[in-house]
Amino acid sequence: MRRGASLSTLAALVVVGCTGDAGEANPASRSDEAASPGPGVEIEYIAHAAFLLRAEDGSELLIDPYASRVWLGYDWPDGIEPDAVLITHPHYDHDAGRYREMPFPWNEQVTVVDAPGSFTFGDFQVTGVEGKHADPYGMEFGQLNTIMVIEVAGLRIAHLGDNGPLTPAMAAGLGPADVLMMPGDAVYHILSEETTQAILETVQPSIVIPMHYRLGDLETEADAPSDLGDIDPWLEGRPGVQRVGGHITTLRATELPSERAYLVFEHAPYVSGPGGD
Ligand SMILES: [Zn+2]
Repeated sequence: MRRGASLSTLAALVVVGCTGDAGEANPASRSDEAASPGPGVEIEYIAHAAFLLRAEDGSELLIDPYASRVWLGYDWPDGIEPDAVLITHPHYDHDAGRYREMPFPWNEQVTVVDAPGSFTFGDFQVTGVEGKHADPYGMEFGQLNTIMVIEVAGLRIAHLGDNGPLTPAMAAGLGPADVLMMPGDAVYHILSEETTQAILETVQPSIVIPMHYRLGDLETEADAPSDLGDIDPWLEGRPGVQRVGGHITTLRATELPSERAYLVFEHAPYVSGPGGD
């Protein structure tokens, strides 16, 4: 219910110009098929590396849910009921604590994809590409990290999880992507700037969505979570930074920016910190 109410933040869309309402605003173009913005996918940022993607058929795909108050200081919100969950790797800030046998925050019938392969969920076509967690982390599970490539609404969207540098095999499996969700923070916890640039060079995304940074308003301690920095210093000097001004936006293949944009979301307002409940 809370999430339904949050849809109003769509109005705050500042990204790529017109929204789904654009045709309504310009009735003269209604009969002109070329003016149709085409299908879109709604991207909702929850927090950390977790996103909920909503296709036009209503299917919902959740990527990398975190465990409540493990390393991160805030809670996983109630009421998220996706059709499928993608987990890039078994760290608590990406798998909702599953590897630690914490109870799943979603219905147990929900399909969980946590390995390479091809899967279809409603309008979503998902390809898991075998990757490797950035050093030096994840030795306890062999540094497994599955890069998730999602095709929907004519877009290729990739979520790197905590992948490190791309090997030629990973780059070939991933291919070019229109939208890249990648870790970035002030202390370069997962990816060095050099590796970040190399990945961008390989993937050539029109839109970069940074993730996996400290959310200061949800944390009560100045130095927690440890070794994780804010996003603003990471964004400094990058051209094309755009603030979504909310936690939801709709992306369309017909509205991709001609110059690379770094799309910065606010975390979902229904995520609560230590004092939140
Ligand atoms: Zn992580």
